[in-house]
Amino acid sequence: MERGKPGSTEDLATLANLDGKVLLNELKVRYMDSNIYTYVGDILVAINPFRPLHIYGEEESQKYYLEKKSSNPPHIFAIADAAYQCMLGYGGRIPQNQCVLISGESGAGKTESTKLIIKQLIELCRGNTQLEQQILQVNPLLEAFGNARTAMNDNSSRFGKYIQLIFRDGHVDGAKISEYLLEKSRVVHQNGEEENFHIFYYMFGGLSAEQRKNYNLLPPGKHRYLTNGADCLKREPSYFKKQYDELVNAMDLVGFTDEEEDNLFSIIAAILHMGNVTFEMDDDEASFVEDENGPVKMAANVLGVSSEELVGTLTNMVTFTRGEQIKRHYTKAMAEDARDAVSKAMYGRLFGWIVNKINQLLAPKDQSSVEAREIGILDIFGFEHFEKNSFEQACINLANEQLQFFFNQHVFKMEQEEYMKEGIDWKEIKFVDNQPLLNLFLNKPIGILSLLDEETHFPKGTDESLVEKLNIHFGGNSYYGKSAQSKSRKFTINHYAGKVTYDASRWLDKNRDTLPPGVTEMLQTSSNELVKLIFRGQITRTGSLALQARKSTRTTRRSKKPPPAGSHAGGRKRKQTVAGQFKNSLGILMERMMSSSPIFVRCLKPNHVKVPGKFDETYIQGQLLYTGMLETIKIRREGFALRPSFAEFVEKYKIIVCEAALPGSKQNCLRILKASKIVGWQMGKTKVFMKYYHLEQLSDVFKKMG
Ligand code: ADP
Ligand code: MG
Repeated sequence: MERGKPGSTEDLATLANLDGKVLLNELKVRYMDSNIYTYVGDILVAINPFRPLHIYGEEESQKYYLEKKSSNPPHIFAIADAAYQCMLGYGGRIPQNQCVLISGESGAGKTESTKLIIKQLIELCRGNTQLEQQILQVNPLLEAFGNARTAMNDNSSRFGKYIQLIFRDGHVDGAKISEYLLEKSRVVHQNGEEENFHIFYYMFGGLSAEQRKNYNLLPPGKHRYLTNGADCLKREPSYFKKQYDELVNAMDLVGFTDEEEDNLFSIIAAILHMGNVTFEMDDDEASFVEDENGPVKMAANVLGVSSEELVGTLTNMVTFTRGEQIKRHYTKAMAEDARDAVSKAMYGRLFGWIVNKINQLLAPKDQSSVEAREIGILDIFGFEHFEKNSFEQACINLANEQLQFFFNQHVFKMEQEEYMKEGIDWKEIKFVDNQPLLNLFLNKPIGILSLLDEETHFPKGTDESLVEKLNIHFGGNSYYGKSAQSKSRKFTINHYAGKVTYDASRWLDKNRDTLPPGVTEMLQTSSNELVKLIFRGQITRTGSLALQARKSTRTTRRSKKPPPAGSHAGGRKRKQTVAGQFKNSLGILMERMMSSSPIFVRCLKPNHVKVPGKFDETYIQGQLLYTGMLETIKIRREGFALRPSFAEFVEKYKIIVCEAALPGSKQNCLRILKASKIVGWQMGKTKVFMKYYHLEQLSDVFKKMG
């Protein structure tokens, strides 16, 4: 391509004159020309084409096979290629674990990018082992259970994932998936035009009439969890036949047994029946199941538990006081909460089990003679900003803050600190540091999550008292905004990607995420082995969830019986809250990422309406702005991505001055650099500072030497 013409820049870091307008125009011309990929130095920018492009076939795959980055146009396959080469230490690098971090708004193309990277990595290994075929099937499997149609994306990931591919000898030896925060609430409720998880629809598309009968399933439109109360579905069941077949095929290939598949579908069916259970209240405000021979019986049948016991755990709670058994009846609202809590728990644990099962099936075989290296790929949910934003959005957006922070640390902070330390000639590039936001969320004891946990454990805590505390502590914080109305449950956070107003309704419940008492014990009697397994060993505390409602209900005294071991609240270890778990897993993820060499992919969403060929300038501009793209380009243009120590440099390149043994001194580095005739590097106190493109230039010199 001709240089200088708009749209001809494959690497934005090479543009000498750059401002927001030039950048936007460059990306636009490229995008309209079907060039969705552009580099910023070693970072890849990808703009969602919203249509199939024929650039991921066999031919492209070959083109990006152990190549130099500059020999081909920018491409997601080049990222896979770079990760693979860096991991193995090709081109004179030190072999190192890699992590590819893919960021962007919901629907920007993160998950598609992840899939393409994995596909290409497997191509690069040139293997065709069963394991590799299994790994390729993991995505359809996870997506069936973890993705759903949302307002932002028809195939939106409702969980975050980190996939580690483990290599030995350049070949895949195993894989491990970590999942983050599945949006369980979707099982029982979807907003507006949104749908439940794909699996619910696939099932109706693919199960035979006989199977549907075995699970007692009604027509899909008659299951409340699928229709949100509306009387029809958005798409016909037959639409999903193909997806169902793909899913079953994927489960077979990955290694799920027929029995496991059957158990799994039974659980999905049971959840659908649970959704249809309705309650009424008697004069004493004690709830009862409206139709004891209806959905509740079907749910119990499919789960292989006693219908009476299921009814019991949904409508009343049994506690023990001084050895005496007391039965408290739930109100209608409490019973509905109990029902939904059970459905969510079944789904959440089922998903966790699926991920575990995949991890078992794909676990590396221990061939300890060869050292393992890995490439991790992070595909978390993108930043979310809806009309109504709840606890889930707060967690998702916090994860995005954390990722942006990691990006800043790597691209701006650590790099510039090193320039200072090494005393090279450098003019500081400013970036928007989001550390204060992370502090606002994560500080102990006064951070949003800590205060949430405190309120969650406080017997008298409510969503209102939580917001009151947040207002008191953060009223003066410039990233925090109080609601103008008093006693409001709303507050605003000024995220790096924009302001989001959160509504704290039900945050304490969501954070506790406990099951109604007795549920676990009841489900452990199930004849479905999988149900038993996923509810094993976790006895719930009594007196939790929404069931703590102030309005006390009728109590009945029963026989004196000692409490079953471990089923009482008093003096037991606190269950970790959802916020606490999330904070932990984020921490583990960050550690993992810190110990690998990161590669960044920035996905951009060209328009809100998910159509091809529409480049909404204002929308893209916003994304470029909050991701700090201009600053990123600047630091990539002026910065020094390669920083070998004198010794490393001499060791690697001494051949350029035709020496077999040469001490790793500054003088010798200078000698080599002069001989190589590359320009633009700087000498630090202990290291050589080179631009990212110097690596290829040096290896060219290297090659010419033979
Ligand atoms: P995210 O994971 O960022 O929310 P997805 O990766 O699910 O977004 O992408 C949303 C949709 O955009 C996909 O379902 C697909 O239709 C389209 N899409 C994304 N990337 C590509 C691509 N490289 N080529 C074609 N279509 C794409
Ligand atoms: Mg996704």
